[in-house]
Amino acid sequence: MAFISWLSRLRSSYSKTITDLRTSFFHHLRTRGASTTAITPPYHFSKQNPFRFTCSNSIVPVTLAGSLAIHFQSPPPLCDASLDSLSGIGGIGSAEFVVKGSHKHVPQELIEELKAICQDDPSIDYDERYFHGKPQNSFHKAVNIPDVVVFPRSEEEVSNIVKSCDKHKVPIVPYGGATSIEGHTLSPHGGVCIDMSLMKNVKALHVEDMDVVVESGIGWMELNEYLEPHGLFFPLDPGPGATIGGMCATRCSGSLAVRYGTMRDNVISLKVVLPNGDVVKTASRARKSAAGYDLTRLVIGSEGTLGVITEVTLRLQKIPQHSVVAMCNFPTIKDAADVSIATMLSGLQVSRLELMDEVQVRAVNVANDKNLPELPTLMFEFIGTDVDILCERFTSASNAKNKLYEAYVREQTLIVQKIISEHRGSDFVFAEDPEAKKELWKIRKEALWACFAMEPEYEAMISDVCVPLSRLAELISCSKKELDASPLVCTVIAHAGDGNFHTVILFDPNQEDQKREAERLNNFMVHTALSMEGTCTGEHGVGTGKMKVSYPLFESAMHFMKFDTCSFGALAIYLEKELGIEALKTMKRIKNALDPNNIMNPGKLIPPHVCF
Ligand SMILES: Cc1cc2nc3c(=O)[nH]c(=O)nc-3n(C[C@H](O)[C@H](O)[C@H](O)COP(=O)(O)OP(=O)(O)OC[C@H]3O[C@@H](n4cnc5c(N)ncnc54)[C@H](O)[C@@H]3O)c2cc1C
Repeated sequence: MAFISWLSRLRSSYSKTITDLRTSFFHHLRTRGASTTAITPPYHFSKQNPFRFTCSNSIVPVTLAGSLAIHFQSPPPLCDASLDSLSGIGGIGSAEFVVKGSHKHVPQELIEELKAICQDDPSIDYDERYFHGKPQNSFHKAVNIPDVVVFPRSEEEVSNIVKSCDKHKVPIVPYGGATSIEGHTLSPHGGVCIDMSLMKNVKALHVEDMDVVVESGIGWMELNEYLEPHGLFFPLDPGPGATIGGMCATRCSGSLAVRYGTMRDNVISLKVVLPNGDVVKTASRARKSAAGYDLTRLVIGSEGTLGVITEVTLRLQKIPQHSVVAMCNFPTIKDAADVSIATMLSGLQVSRLELMDEVQVRAVNVANDKNLPELPTLMFEFIGTDVDILCERFTSASNAKNKLYEAYVREQTLIVQKIISEHRGSDFVFAEDPEAKKELWKIRKEALWACFAMEPEYEAMISDVCVPLSRLAELISCSKKELDASPLVCTVIAHAGDGNFHTVILFDPNQEDQKREAERLNNFMVHTALSMEGTCTGEHGVGTGKMKVSYPLFESAMHFMKFDTCSFGALAIYLEKELGIEALKTMKRIKNALDPNNIMNPGKLIPPHVCF
């Protein structure tokens, strides 16, 4: 059972909340124990997965834990039979409603085959299935949960699992660290959840080529611990606990993307189990290749809809010898955004450039017992890697090397300081102490969870838009105006050097008007970004949350299905507006060609109204 793992993520800085949560958690366990007889004791560690969150020293969205505990009181039925006839509509309305889906019957024969493949390890335990069916970092829910959870140990096992599911036409949802934010890991049609957490071996490290071959279930934090003694690291840093397979599947990025690029730029090759069970290697280990279609990039960002990634070859970077973190405040968020643009235009090689508005800084203060000035804030990181070559060539004396690193980093910070002073920036501070820097980035990484310190009972709708850099200041300032005018608590966090920004909109899930308001704000930001040649998702992906459909089609489909459409605005056309229907049709053709039985993560990514 996974609740204990959940609790292990709680931080001491949240001791009161933890106490409350624990009380509620054990209360619900007791309630459940009293009213139910033949159940598996819920208070054990996940058999297959006892260390799921060991790298994540993190706090949790308490509200989600609360809602999980509540469900414990009376476990919902495995499937909602009344929705069985609604095949193919999973995902519509995901921001407002439970994601619909049609439950596919899982025959006993398949369960027996899975037992044979996974050495008796497939789990049909309710708690395990429930845990895997409820995203841990988003409010999305689905009518169904997986019928079976399997924990393969090898590519061969994955291939055999997929072959069996394809034979029985049973849906599959690949599952990594479950840190995704748009309901990616929901199982609206039930089926088989393939949890990759037992496949986390490092298969080969090539220090001289600066690449590594790993199984896809390894986490980025675990990988970096492994690489550190070799002076290398993997520079993508999404949610703590994310796996390399999930990161490929969502085409994620993070705070270092401004310097190193996204997952698209850092994967050399993949091995993928296709929906018919065939195993494909997408490229060689060479750094570049012009050999045919780029299958690697087809799979990156496919969100588990084209196959299960089993092996990944990644580019690595040298750990920088010297770095400085600088922070400064601004009277308005526009000033902060303007400085981000000016810094990037200056040609400086920043490795991180992150923005938080005053509300987000307040959340960080509350969650971490800090006293940062509650103003729009920029965080920069400058690194001294570029002087490595000079150092190697001209000096080996460590003193002289350090001086060079420092001089280089200082020169960058001086240039930025000048830009900042031209934009009304103040309180420019540096951190050079390794522990202080680590803490600052950890706080930033966990900023999303920090928001729940302000409204522990609420849920969060997280927008993730990205625009060409020159439009960032305009987008942020007009979004901020809308957010400030709203009765909801909303924070702004941005990977500002990339033109990518998030708002965390906190809402009470029991208040219809708050849900509508959160959805309205999200719609506003997405459509403003789209009008600026931007995207509805810079890094979090589509999942079910961004899979909006054309309103007229949606309305007639919903009318036909006798659903209420009132809480959906006419503005809910994200992907189609961004990419055009022809691009979506092309995606659907690819999906159909590779997955004719539509077993791989059905009901995600491609809106259901797209036909060809
Ligand atoms: C606090 C916090 C901060 C975050 N910060 C960032 C950020 O800065 N940048 C960013 O980009 N994202 C961020 N995220 C989002 C999230 O961490 C990323 O989307 C991440 O890439 C998801 O990886 P995962 O292993 O958790 O995938 P999961 O959530 O398990 O799965 C995501 C999708 O990938 C598929 N999948 C998983 N494993 C495989 C596989 N082996 N083969 C095929 N498909 C697979 C699943 O079916 C699903 O569709 C953040 C999340 C949190 C909670």
